[in-house]
Amino acid sequence: MNISLEGKVAVVTGAGRGIGQSIALALAQAGAGIACVSLTEKNAKETAERITAAGRKAKAYAVDVADGGAVETTALQIVADFGKVDILVNNAGTNKDGLIMRMPDGDWDAVLNVNLKGAFFWTKALCRHLIKQRSGKIINISSVIGLIGNAGQANYAASKAGLIGFTKSIAREFASRNIHCNAIAPGFIETDMTGSLNDEQKAAILKQVPLARFGKPENVSDLAVFLASSRADYITGQVLTVDGGMVM
Ligand code: NAD
Repeated sequence: MNISLEGKVAVVTGAGRGIGQSIALALAQAGAGIACVSLTEKNAKETAERITAAGRKAKAYAVDVADGGAVETTALQIVADFGKVDILVNNAGTNKDGLIMRMPDGDWDAVLNVNLKGAFFWTKALCRHLIKQRSGKIINISSVIGLIGNAGQANYAASKAGLIGFTKSIAREFASRNIHCNAIAPGFIETDMTGSLNDEQKAAILKQVPLARFGKPENVSDLAVFLASSRADYITGQVLTVDGGMVM
C-alpha cells in the first residue's frame, strides 16, 4: 500500500523520544512536515534535526502540554510557521504509579493534566483551524491500561480511559467537518517509560501477551501513519490496540 503524506503538516506532542519520536520520524518519512513538541528544548530539537537532516521540514517547540496558555500560543505559532496543520498526534504522556491508598493528590492531578487535559488543550487550540480547513486527523495515544485497568496505576488508567471517551466525542463532534479522530492503545512497548520495569515485572507482563514479546515504537508509528493518511478516511472514533494480542 502506498501511503503519502506529501504536503501535510503534523503536530506531534512528546516527540522528543520513544513512541512520539518514532511517530514524528515515520510521518516525516511519509512526506509530512513536523512540529516536534516536547517538554524539553533539547529533545524536541534532536528529533527536529533528524527530520531536517533527512530533507523534510521540521521545527522544535518546547512546551508543557498541561499549560493551556502555552499550548494556545504554540499552536498559533505552529500555524504561522508552517502555514497550516493537518494532523495532530496527542502522544505526550507520563505516569506516577502507586496504590490508591497512598497516592498523593498531586500525582493524580499531574498524570490527568498531562495525559488527558493536554489532549484537550491541543485539540481545542487547533480545532478552529481544522474546521475552517474542513479536514484533519487527530490521533490520541491511549493505552491498553485504559481498557483493562492496572493495580497501582489508577491515575494513569483513568487518564487513558478518559482519552478514549474524549476520542469518541471528538469523532462525533467533528465528523461532519471531515475531521477524523481515533485512538491507538499500545500494549507494552520498549521505551524509557517501560525501561524501569524489573525482570520480574517484565516476565509477569509477558505472560499476558500471546505474542510473548514487547512491542517496538515502530509498531505504533506504522499504524499512526496509516490513520493520518487518506487511506483511513472511513475510520473514526475507533480504539486500535497494538499489543501483541494482550487485549482481545
Ligand atoms: P516516554 O516517557 O519515552 O515519552 C513520553 C514523552 O512525552 C517524552 O518525550 C516526554 O518529554 C513527553 N512529555 C511528558 N510530559 C510532558 C508534558 N507535560 N509536556 C510535553 N511533553 C511531555 O514514553 P513513551 O513510552 O514513548 O510513551 C508515549 C505515549 O505512549 C504516552 O502517552 C504513553 O502513556 C503511551 N503508552 C506507552 C506505552 C509503553 O509501553 N511505552 C504503552 C501504552 C501507552
